[in-house]
Amino acid sequence: MSSCPLVVIEPLKRRHCAECRGGPLARLVLEFHAPLCLDCADLGHLVYLARGDAALTRRAREASGLWAVVVRHNRRRTRYERQGILVEEAALARAEAACLADAEARARRRARDAARRAAEDVRFRAALADEILRLFPGCPPERASGIAAHAAERGSGRVGRTAAGRALDQGAVTAAVRASVRHVDTEYDALLMRGVPRRQARTRVAPAIEAVLEAWRR
Ligand SMILES: [Zn+2]
Repeated sequence: MSSCPLVVIEPLKRRHCAECRGGPLARLVLEFHAPLCLDCADLGHLVYLARGDAALTRRAREASGLWAVVVRHNRRRTRYERQGILVEEAALARAEAACLADAEARARRRARDAARRAAEDVRFRAALADEILRLFPGCPPERASGIAAHAAERGSGRVGRTAAGRALDQGAVTAAVRASVRHVDTEYDALLMRGVPRRQARTRVAPAIEAVLEAWRR
């Protein structure tokens, strides 16, 4: 691979090929200051790949025996700016296939990770439900499952997503059950809706919660 690539220019002015007189030229090569069309410069068989995908560009360039960089002059910035590259069609096809294979491999890995996490979640929810029933034998089993599923929801930041919760720490498990009872078995939510301050509402429903927990412990 050349360290100084061939340069193809997208001219701002109308230029014609010095050899075949074709034009005006969308792209040209300067040879001893004379503009040449890509066919006359023996680059006519290359295909254009616009900049923007670094991995695809690198792969196409590396797979191409002959390639050229395409530039356009930016008047405002008074410099040439890279627009893309010209590469062999087969090289571009190979590069596209390689990038596609990469994307597919990444997708497969993501799917595997998701399946593994889902399996972990199922195991954890079952373990959490079991622990709830061990601490609260009087809790209806479907209720225990519901509390476990809710507490274990990914991205919830709930007790099931904390280290203590994952370790089925008794305090964390009890906190999850207490939170559920507060919302489901007391008038806590209704009090909040009526504008009762949270602290006050919690104090008001505390005895009701403890009564439910006590009943479930037996
Ligand atoms: Zn020409």
